[in-house]
Amino acid sequence: MLKLEKLEVSYGSIKALHSIALEVKKGEIVALIGANGAGKSTTLRTISGLLKPSNKEGKIRFKDKEIQSVSPHKIVEMGLSHVPEGRRVFPDMSVYENLLMGAHSRKGKPDQTDFDRVYHHFPRLKERIKQMAGTLSGGEQQMLAMGRALMARPDLLLLDEPSMGLAPMLVEEIFHIIEDINVAGTTILLVEQNAHLALEISNRAYVLETGEIVLDGQAQDLAQNENIRKSYLGE
Ligand code: ATP
Repeated sequence: MLKLEKLEVSYGSIKALHSIALEVKKGEIVALIGANGAGKSTTLRTISGLLKPSNKEGKIRFKDKEIQSVSPHKIVEMGLSHVPEGRRVFPDMSVYENLLMGAHSRKGKPDQTDFDRVYHHFPRLKERIKQMAGTLSGGEQQMLAMGRALMARPDLLLLDEPSMGLAPMLVEEIFHIIEDINVAGTTILLVEQNAHLALEISNRAYVLETGEIVLDGQAQDLAQNENIRKSYLGE
């Protein structure tokens, strides 16, 4: 579904990613874990076309097409949606209007099945359809950001820190929903600080340190790895 090869990204003269290689297969949940500033968000922003590789060899293939030069708008149309860190809902628009915006950048008009799919995963959004997004709780805004991304009918969903700033019970709820979305047919690349939960729901994972992939493997195996347990699982 997604393949990164030799991907380098720089901010001015500072290189944030060094020759990243990563693969997400159809149907998987893949986690990208790493400390603050390791380059996780930079990786997602480059996949969704918001940043461009700084080297010619850097390639991003999505559904067998090279997309490293494609515009973000076209990438959404191709079936790849990104839920950025910090949710970024439109605060002065209603929940309904936010959801409509999510369908904007894909071909074809949204229909009731699109809304029903979102309401199935996030019944709380249905109850609050007329509420201004800015007045939703942090957890509800995360749900709306994810629901909005689903309106584009993505084959691949990029999630950046969905647990950030949420109470533990809500984090569990969001992670269950991520699993449900995956079971319903959407492939997921998940960036998370909460390595424990991320490894629990993922098939495979990559560990990013200062812009380099230093380890990858089955999530179950990584959860047993001594270095991972010490560095990322707080043991
Ligand atoms: P966090 O979880 O804290 O967001 P991250 O793993 O997502 O961390 P990135 O946000 O991708 O890390 O940042 C990777 C590196 O690139 C960091 O050193 C960061 O300071 C730098 N960086 C990120 N955005 C910019 C920017 N717009 N301009 C300059 N440097 C940046």
